[in-house]
Amino acid sequence: MKVLKFGGTSVGSVKNMCNVKNIINDGTKKVVVLSAMSGTTNALVEIANYIFEKTPNKAIDAINTLHESYFKTIDALLSNTQLKDETKAYVTGIFNFLVTCTYEGYSKKLENNIVAQGELLSTYMFNAYLNQEGISSTLLPALEFMRINGVKEPDHFYIKKQLKNVMASAPETNIYITQGFICLDQKGDVSNLQRGGSDYTATIIGAAIKAQEVEIWTDIDGMHNNDPRYVENTNPISNLSFDEAAELAYFGAKILHPQTILPVREDGIPVRLKNTMAPEAHGTLISSQTSENGIKAIAAKDNITAIKIKSGRMLQAHGFLKKVFEIFEVYETSIDMITTSEVAVSLTIDDDRNLDKIITELEEFGTIEVDKGQTIVCLVGHSIVNHESTFKLFQILKDVKIRMISYGGSKNNISLLINSKGKVTSLNKLNNYLFELVTL
Ligand code: ADP
Ligand code: ASP
Ligand code: MG
Repeated sequence: MKVLKFGGTSVGSVKNMCNVKNIINDGTKKVVVLSAMSGTTNALVEIANYIFEKTPNKAIDAINTLHESYFKTIDALLSNTQLKDETKAYVTGIFNFLVTCTYEGYSKKLENNIVAQGELLSTYMFNAYLNQEGISSTLLPALEFMRINGVKEPDHFYIKKQLKNVMASAPETNIYITQGFICLDQKGDVSNLQRGGSDYTATIIGAAIKAQEVEIWTDIDGMHNNDPRYVENTNPISNLSFDEAAELAYFGAKILHPQTILPVREDGIPVRLKNTMAPEAHGTLISSQTSENGIKAIAAKDNITAIKIKSGRMLQAHGFLKKVFEIFEVYETSIDMITTSEVAVSLTIDDDRNLDKIITELEEFGTIEVDKGQTIVCLVGHSIVNHESTFKLFQILKDVKIRMISYGGSKNNISLLINSKGKVTSLNKLNNYLFELVTL
């Protein structure tokens, strides 16, 4: 069985929903994971923000606007009167729930409940649409099987067991439809897998059912060799290994949620990235096969903070780095890059929620310098640290101002830390030189 995930744009209009219907209606058994319609999760986050800011009237205006836009979509999507009425009643129930949220004080739990509504809306509407088109499908409520544990990781054992049970309740169905992104936490409250999390839902399900393949259908023809939002003339990459794809996803290639590859890597379940608007395009196949060497792709991760600890005396003492790492561990803050010298150690974090407390504790060791607004630019390819063309990277350094460099942490990754203001220029320069659009 395959798992097919369709992102926000893929379910964002009646035309695209029709494309999705054509792609999935091939008579084979599958699990279909849907995101919220594009723009909906952002609108729901905005509604939660209005509640946080204690401006409930703004929240109610936003709820009404969204409600109207959903009614327009339903009018265009469904011609069957009974299905249309049932769907409008369901959707109205959700919007009434959102209105009751504006009477409450803000809490993270309330926000999680609000942002979960997008996937509930899209899956209900799409299931009704398939019904109208005479295609039999079954809705699997994600909150009945998707759960994270105390450290916010998927509870694989529970998910496998519960998913098997809910799927067994409709054994005759060909198309199981479920919500991406949303889950329960270990207390049983509604939670989520973080923004872009529907990709992660798909691979978690893929691993749970030992799927033959996971397909991620989106609005572009696969993983490109650079970020198409900032660089022109990027190209899709036909094949990536799990390691290469995991590095790119973790270091900012938005097409994949950072954790997408983890659940399927061990079992070697291939992940295929496809374009809903151009299904004939090859896309990208991510598998355990490694193909040609050399730099294959560039990604960038923003909102990075660099921290430098200067302390000649302490650095030479054994156990120093352990003490530094313990501080980050206490504040549940993970470190992405690290470089050391005789007198200082520099490292980067992307979660600066506990930065002040971390700095206060680090000050025990020496002088601390903090640089916010940094970007990690990550170059990825099989064995690039040993590849003969990688020398070009070092010739480019005269043009790109680098704050830190990480070489050799893995064979497949070289990371550069730069000021975010130089990101677009650097991505373009690297693209031109490394992919040989201009010669040095
Ligand atoms: P979906 O809503 O389908 O999950 P996303 O917006 O999350 O889609 O991801 C697709 C987008 O990712 C593309 O439209 C593209 O702008 C962006 N993107 C960033 N880096 C890359 C890359 N290296 N290759 C392809 N797309 C990328
Ligand atoms: N709807 C969620 C988001 O916008 C999850 C997803 O699209 O993958 O982040
Ligand atoms: Mg996405």
